[in-house]
Amino acid sequence: ERRLVMVPGPINYEPSVLRELAVSGLDHTSPEFVEIFADALGKLREIVYAGKEHQPVVIAGTGTLGMEASVTNFLTKGNRVLVVSNGYFGDRFKELLSRYPVKTDVLRPDTIGNGVEASRIIEVVEKEGYDLVTLTHVDTSTGVLQPIREVGKKLRNTGTILVVDGVCSVGGEEINLVEDGVDVLFTGSQKALGVPPGLAIIWLSPKALEKLKELKEPLSPYYMDLKKWVEVMRSYEEKKPVYFGTPAVNLVVALRKSLELILREGMENRVRRHMVLSEAFREAMKALGLGILASEKYTAHTITAVKLPSGIDAGLLVSFARSAGVAIARGLLKEVNYFRVGHMGPVNANDIIATIAVIERALYRQGYLSRLGDGLLRAQEVLARHG
Ligand code: PMP
Repeated sequence: ERRLVMVPGPINYEPSVLRELAVSGLDHTSPEFVEIFADALGKLREIVYAGKEHQPVVIAGTGTLGMEASVTNFLTKGNRVLVVSNGYFGDRFKELLSRYPVKTDVLRPDTIGNGVEASRIIEVVEKEGYDLVTLTHVDTSTGVLQPIREVGKKLRNTGTILVVDGVCSVGGEEINLVEDGVDVLFTGSQKALGVPPGLAIIWLSPKALEKLKELKEPLSPYYMDLKKWVEVMRSYEEKKPVYFGTPAVNLVVALRKSLELILREGMENRVRRHMVLSEAFREAMKALGLGILASEKYTAHTITAVKLPSGIDAGLLVSFARSAGVAIARGLLKEVNYFRVGHMGPVNANDIIATIAVIERALYRQGYLSRLGDGLLRAQEVLARHG
């Protein structure tokens, strides 16, 4: 059945990427797979403008595995962490860290939909001297994009490790590991990277790699021991694979294909496409009289959270859309009446138009709109302006 998946991941995948999943006869130490894995690791560096000194790591698991590995490997008992949280996924860091013997403080914006000022983060870090700081680049629950660079530049020459959750941003938003001063970045395969769920991908800076070597008694569980995984990745890149846990062979082959498509488009073009399509979508929602949850200064381009008037049922809207062939998502926060639309990966203008059309019909049926087409008209104008 054909369905447009516009939830913030999983997404609709390119057929050419999905076909790669059907390969057979590739075991994890075969020369063919070794070449493919090494190539994928090189391409992973390219999409975040990283050099050879950075080490990407690909592990079977979800984004949450990437999250847990990204913090536990750089912490030891008694360390202090600052979590900058703009929503549900920022808060997940706090929940996760509560299972480990560290002390965690949380910094939140003044209101839901805002990000946290870089100057405020820097001030708190300088005063308290944290061992590790987490930023959620795009919080999928609010559609808030938290800028990284100013904080990264400040922390670059300190002992503090900067961890960035890029699950809802890598492959859709601009991110430059070197310029942004990120020590540990992670994502999952199923969003803007355009590969089915099942891979956690982590990038480590030279500073992070050094820390990994030095830190005595890190809190990382066995499977998440990045020292072991870094060794595995390096061995594949040297074409002499060593074994720790069986790589998710088929997903890695699909990842390589998707990265090839991404680099063919070019990261700059890809980021621009996400900007234009998200602008068309946001403008359409505003033309329907709906508000965007994220403030203008902190708007993400991979996902939009749309506020609804109190009389409109988000659940009904989402189920109408689904029955009309477009999957969109309910809100994740209880405090706000809203829904979420993901627009990332291979998404195009036709997908955006179809999504707006379905939302308009749903709102019309609930009696919120008395006329159809205002959102579509506005989106058309934005799309036409950008060619
Ligand atoms: N962080 C962010 C920002 C996310 O959007 C998600 C998934 N929605 C996660 C972490 C967790 O990823 P996963 O569901 O793949 O474990």
